[in-house]
Amino acid sequence: MKKSILITSIIILVIVSVISIFKIKIKPNKKVDNSTNNSVNSNIDNNVDDSIDDNTKYDAIEIETNDFENLENYNSYYYKAYLNYSKNNLDIDKQTIVYFINYCRKNNIEYMNINDYFINLYKENDFDAKKIDRYIYYLQNSLNSSYENVVKIVNNNLDTVILKNKVDEDFILNLINEKYYKSNNLERYINYFQNNKSLSSKEIVTNVNSNLDYTFYKDYNMTDTSKDTLMIVNKHYKLDNNYVPKNLVTIEPTYGYQFEIRQDVYEAFKNMYNAAKSDGISMFIVSPYRSYKLQNSIYNNYVAIDGINKADTYSARPGFSEHQSGLAVDLAPKAYMDLDTFVTSPSYNWMIENSYKYGFILRYPQNKEYITGYMYEPWHYRYVGVEAATIIKNEDLTFEEYYEYYVK
Ligand SMILES: [Zn+2]
Repeated sequence: MKKSILITSIIILVIVSVISIFKIKIKPNKKVDNSTNNSVNSNIDNNVDDSIDDNTKYDAIEIETNDFENLENYNSYYYKAYLNYSKNNLDIDKQTIVYFINYCRKNNIEYMNINDYFINLYKENDFDAKKIDRYIYYLQNSLNSSYENVVKIVNNNLDTVILKNKVDEDFILNLINEKYYKSNNLERYINYFQNNKSLSSKEIVTNVNSNLDYTFYKDYNMTDTSKDTLMIVNKHYKLDNNYVPKNLVTIEPTYGYQFEIRQDVYEAFKNMYNAAKSDGISMFIVSPYRSYKLQNSIYNNYVAIDGINKADTYSARPGFSEHQSGLAVDLAPKAYMDLDTFVTSPSYNWMIENSYKYGFILRYPQNKEYITGYMYEPWHYRYVGVEAATIIKNEDLTFEEYYEYYVK
C-alpha cells in the first residue's frame, strides 16, 4: 500500500508539473496572438523586454496605457525614450513626460532637440502639459518671447490672435489685466489700438466697450427690449419706430407735467420725490416718455435751427432717443422752470448723492460726451433699477460701459 501511494503521488506530481509548465508556455503565445496585427512591434517587444527590469516595466506600461495614443507603441522607440527621459529628469512628473514624448512622436522630433524649451516651460508656475504643442509653436513663431509670457499667452488663448495680427504681446497682456476687459472684443481692441496708438490699455478697453470704434448712427443694432429696465438706447442701439412701452401711465400734476411714463419708473420716481421732499428738496418732471413721432418733430425742428451736426450733440434722432423707452425723465427744480436751472439748484446735488438709491442714474455726465455721444445733461435721469444704479455710481461708469460689460 505505501509503495502504491508513493507511486500515485509521484504520478500526480508529474502531471501537475507538466500542466503548469504547459500553461506558462501558453500565456506568452496568447499575447503574441493578440498583437499579430503588427509583427514589427512584437519584434521590438522582444528586444526591449530583455533590457528592462519588471518593476520599471510595470510602471511604464500603466502610464502608456493611459496616455500613449495606441497600445501598439508599447515598448516602442518612444517607450524607451520615455524611460530614458524619466530616468534623467526625476523631478518632472511622469504624466508630463508622457505628454512631452507624445508631442515629439506626433511631430517627428528628436526630443533632445527641444529639451531646453521643454525644461524651461516646465519651470513656469502655470505650465500645463496638455498645452505643450501650443507653447512650443508660439515659442518658435513669436520673436523673443519669454517663457513666462509664452505660458501666460497660451493659457489665456491669446496665441493665435497675437501671431495672426503680429501685435505686441505686452500690449495684449496689459489689456487682459484691465478690469473691464472682454475676451469677445479682443480683435476690436487690437484694431482700435492700431489706429489709436497713444491711448492707454484702459482707454482702449473703455472706448471699444462703448462702441467708439463704430460710427454713430451708421453702425447700429436694434436694441434688445427684453432687457427691460436695462435696455440701452443710444446712437448705436435703436428702438423700432413703433415701439411703445406697455405700461404707460399719466403723471399726476404734483410730480410733473401730465405726460406719460412707465408705471414702474413712476413708482420709483415717487419714492425718490418723497425722500427728497422730506430733505426739503423739490423736483418736477418736464419731459418723460416721448413717442417716435414726437421725437421726429423735435429733432427736425432743432436741425432746422442749428444744422445736423450741432443738433446731433444735444438731440437724439427719432428711434435713438432714450425718452421713447419710457425710462428717462428730464427734470426741473419746479414746475415752469427751465431745464437749465436744474444744475444750479440744490435738487441737482441731492440727486447726485441719492438718486441711485431709487434706481436712477445721471445718464449724460460731464466729460463722458465721447462715450455717451451727448453733451453733459445735468437734468436727464434714467431709471435702471437700484442694483445697476449702485454699481454705476460706485464704479463711476456710463450706462454704455455698464451695458456692454454687465448686461449684453
Ligand atoms: Zn432727456
